Amino acid sequence: MDFNHIALVGLGLIASSIALNIKSKKNRIKITGYSRTKKTREEARKINFCTVCDNYEDCIKEANLVILCVPVGAMGDTMEKIAPYLSKSAIVTDVGSVKESVILEVQKKLPKGVFFVPAHPLAGTENSGPSAGFASLFENRWCILTPSKNVPIEIIKKVKFFWEQLGSNVVEMDAKHHDLVLSVTSHAPHLIAFTMVGVADEFSKVTNSEVINYSAAGFRDFTRLAASDPIMWRDVFLNNKDAALEILGRFTEELFTLQKAIRKKDGEYLLKYFERTRKIRRSIISAGQDTAEPNFGRKE
Ligand code: NAP
Repeated sequence: MDFNHIALVGLGLIASSIALNIKSKKNRIKITGYSRTKKTREEARKINFCTVCDNYEDCIKEANLVILCVPVGAMGDTMEKIAPYLSKSAIVTDVGSVKESVILEVQKKLPKGVFFVPAHPLAGTENSGPSAGFASLFENRWCILTPSKNVPIEIIKKVKFFWEQLGSNVVEMDAKHHDLVLSVTSHAPHLIAFTMVGVADEFSKVTNSEVINYSAAGFRDFTRLAASDPIMWRDVFLNNKDAALEILGRFTEELFTLQKAIRKKDGEYLLKYFERTRKIRRSIISAGQDTAEPNFGRKE
């Protein structure tokens, strides 16, 4: 690792997972962390995955890698708060789920001579906060770097190596392209899950507890996505508006096509469609991104 002092700004699921992974390797890297509320700082102190500081300055000033682990909409403001305390040799990176808007906001507040290497680990769960973290979160997951052209290759290599040490496979991508790809693979599926659970909630008011009791028929898989952190997801949609609207437009068109096929009893169309979608699941398993076990390996 090229860094001997890593500062985590924000102490939730992603930050605690980074710290637990580094600590599990029993090296001499110093990890400091700061979160804006006393409650989160106290929770992090109890778990003891890093030295929890009570202000930005103590957390940042000696670090040579600073990782912004706050919601996407808070990145610019957080960058502004830490800027006065950054060491000249520090590299700043982040873990935000949206890249173009984060780059724009962070870059505005970045002190001259300090480089920003944006990153997005494609790893997470529906849980949040410091207690939700675990050391193996990033293992065999992708981490996408979206550095601007002005960042020297040696700086990018250091951040790449950092994520590789955490077990991730690292790729570089243009920020705009990242936001479009992620709106297909993550943002739109979450929005569809939020909607489906919202619909079922309305429906369950009519059918009492039946929606919950019979949820194993498929509904519960939507509820996992729909239980994700509300602030994080509000910020994702507000900050990736164009790509999200583009994909949702296409989704609505497809939905209408399927609706029409059902109304016209066009079984051939439905069959071909479902055969095509089934193949996608199989390619995810072949790529090692999920288990081949039926029902995601659940016992019941
Ligand atoms: P989390 O567990 O909810 O933790 C969020 C952290 O950000 C907490 O320390 C919280 O502080 C702080 N925070 C919240 N609002 C803030 C604000 N307005 N200003 C300053 N700090 C604020 O979140 P997470 O899941 O670790 O997500 C962190 C980042 O990782 C987000 O940008 C998200 O897009 C990205 N990400 C998440 C996932 C995932 O699945 N969860 C996956 C990949 C990337 P307090 O608790 O003190 O309020």
